[in-house]
Amino acid sequence: MQIVILGPPGAGKGTQSLLIAQKLGLIHLSTGEILRKAVEQDTELGRRAKEIMQKGALVPDDIMIAIVRQTLSSEEMKSGFILDGFPRTLNQAIALDKILTELNFNDLRVVNITANDDELVKRLMLRGRKDDTIETVKHRLEVYRKQTSPIKEYYEKKCRVYDINGIGDINEINDNIINVLKEPVTRPPVKARNME
Ligand code: AMP
Repeated sequence: MQIVILGPPGAGKGTQSLLIAQKLGLIHLSTGEILRKAVEQDTELGRRAKEIMQKGALVPDDIMIAIVRQTLSSEEMKSGFILDGFPRTLNQAIALDKILTELNFNDLRVVNITANDDELVKRLMLRGRKDDTIETVKHRLEVYRKQTSPIKEYYEKKCRVYDINGIGDINEINDNIINVLKEPVTRPPVKARNME
């Protein structure tokens, strides 16, 4: 199973992804974590990403797509993974489709965690990460609205997207996600071919 977890910053994607990965034996892949490690280790990627992240902006698509392509190509991903923080733009979503096809992954599930802005700002300010100042938080929410939220519609044309209310008890939210992942996959019907 391959899972994409969508939702605004602060919705709980990281927390929920970790729990899902543990319960379903999937690899948790957080592009934000990859970038934060690169910044910490002061690698070339880290130096490029640092300022962008501090502003709450997005790291360029080509960089992110290359990271995800390389990571998903590794043998250990064959047992399934959950993508947290990617895709974040339509371009990334289109590139991900291509990568999944190339690597023969064909069981994609999309979960969208929802929460209102007041709750998101409150949570992000409590979290206290370096990129969680009030200006950055506001900018991240704006970037999400403009660049990331259209991804949901993109996926809705391809497969079912499960909306999950991200407000409430962490374990209950997680149970709700696990339950929808147990549902059989419904795909758009294949058009009947003309009989000869
Ligand atoms: P996150 O941990 O998912 O909140 O990501 C933290 C920051 O890393 C974001 O605010 C972006 O600056 C950057 N980032 C993470 N994932 C992506 C991505 N897929 N595309 C562009 N930037 C990203």
